[in-house]
Amino acid sequence: MAPHHQQRALLLFPLVFLLLLLAPPLAGAWGKEGHIMVCKIAEKYLSEKAAAAVQALLPESAGGELCTVCPWADQVRWHYHWASPLHYANTPQVCNFKYSRDCHNSRGQQGMCVVGAINNYTDQLYSYGQKTSYNLTESLMFLAHFVGDVHQPLHVGFQDDEGGNTITVHWYRRKANLHHVWDVSIIDTAIKDFYNKSMDTMVEALKMNLTDGWSDDIVHWENCKNKHATCANDYAIESIHYSCNYAYKDVEQDITLGDDYFFSRYPIVEKRLAQAGIRLALVLNRIFGGGEADDIPLQVQ
Ligand SMILES: [Zn+2]
Repeated sequence: MAPHHQQRALLLFPLVFLLLLLAPPLAGAWGKEGHIMVCKIAEKYLSEKAAAAVQALLPESAGGELCTVCPWADQVRWHYHWASPLHYANTPQVCNFKYSRDCHNSRGQQGMCVVGAINNYTDQLYSYGQKTSYNLTESLMFLAHFVGDVHQPLHVGFQDDEGGNTITVHWYRRKANLHHVWDVSIIDTAIKDFYNKSMDTMVEALKMNLTDGWSDDIVHWENCKNKHATCANDYAIESIHYSCNYAYKDVEQDITLGDDYFFSRYPIVEKRLAQAGIRLALVLNRIFGGGEADDIPLQVQ
């Protein structure tokens, strides 16, 4: 390398580094914390059989805790490129979800969306205990993640704005996009303002609400009309409704979202985190329950 090239490379290096720092956050899913909270709630409601199967499938690095692997699918998103469309579904700017219309990737392959993924990984996990060619550890890690994602309302949003990713907003004084506000910002602000900056305190509050305020609702959360492999189709229908009625409502490009938006939306976020946790436990209890878990209501372990 000629000396002036070296100089240029040296100059470029900090510039590239700076650009990386300035790059907007990647469109993900519930942020890391959202996924961890969903799985911490689910762990509490696993049946003995399901808990044992989960333990057997978890990678050693998980230290025996499901919640540690729940953000994994986002971390491998750019490596497992084919899996990128499995985190969400988009509708053609309408407030309903139709599997046949909306569950596909950009090449039109059916089933390549979050609902198809939940059904698919559930199917794979049913082969647990038999000879199987699936990597069931990965199936479990994907399933636990996607059940979280389908409950983030904007993971079933509009095609045109990519689930709010192209809607630039200010979250209080920080620049963000609407999708990120629902993945991360509302949760962060709640943890900071209500839970003494502790995610664990927030999880405890959600768990308490499940045995108290929401306890009558849980039986409804367990049911669904469209029970093929799973109820994921219904969860997606709920999400697009929440997107229209809460996430997108009264939002336009470059708007500043503050207390009014936060206080009216964070109860939805908390409810969706809790629902995702309950339903993940339900799916896993069904899969690993040996056919008997269907009629057994969720018990706190
Ligand atoms: Zn995701």
